[in-house]
Amino acid sequence: MIWNELREEEFASAIEKSNKVCVIPIGCTEMHGQHLPVGTDTFEVTYVCREAAKREQVVVFPTIEFGNIPYLTDKKGSIRIRVETMQLLLTEICAEVARNGFKKVLIVNGHGGNLALLGNFVSSTQHDKKDYVVMYRCSYLYGVRELAEDIRKGEKFPILTKDDIKYLLAFNDAKKLTGHAGLDETATIMAVRPETVRLDRMRTVSGLPVGKNAYFTGTGICNNSCRFWHDEYPNHYDANHGDEGVNERLRHALLEKDIQG
Ligand SMILES: [Zn+2]
Repeated sequence: MIWNELREEEFASAIEKSNKVCVIPIGCTEMHGQHLPVGTDTFEVTYVCREAAKREQVVVFPTIEFGNIPYLTDKKGSIRIRVETMQLLLTEICAEVARNGFKKVLIVNGHGGNLALLGNFVSSTQHDKKDYVVMYRCSYLYGVRELAEDIRKGEKFPILTKDDIKYLLAFNDAKKLTGHAGLDETATIMAVRPETVRLDRMRTVSGLPVGKNAYFTGTGICNNSCRFWHDEYPNHYDANHGDEGVNERLRHALLEKDIQG
């Protein structure tokens, strides 16, 4: 059940069928290397929530396409909204969702930079007595690292071939990076919005940290993120190039685990 596809008279039954649960996906609009679109996190979380809602009776609210991005503002396409504004927006949205009759609000996050924002916001909802509860899923993205671990533990993924598994285990053993815009996100967007991906642009920039802040490593001192993101990842891409392993089977194995999660 998708909130903005329902007609007014359908809400009463949607509230009942969902047991008053409304899921709010939140992503962000920010650069993801040169090979993925700025809507990457939004596309991912929207897809996962909507697919999950086909299996569990919940109502999915329109995705919040903005998130907390204190960095990336030197690049085109990123939209930075003040934390105070985001807190207010989340407060108003949750109150409106509850006023409509949904008393259990689950925010599902698709962007790492939202974690502190959502933690603070959900804590703030507990300050005053309300007739609804808000919780959040702090992270949902299942990646090649987890996939390799699950394969080693004996979990079966019939969709993957022997060669896929060999590739994944080698990728994991080599401790290759799979962060922002890396193999995980690239595979997911290739499945969800393939027309927006340009693999030929993946290798045009480096995804490795430049090491400018090595002095601070291990000191516990940081600026806006513990990794000095803005300085360390000027291409806003945190990964070894990994497109050799991206294929239909891998994309669907990752997504299926995300949806189950
Ligand atoms: Zn992302």
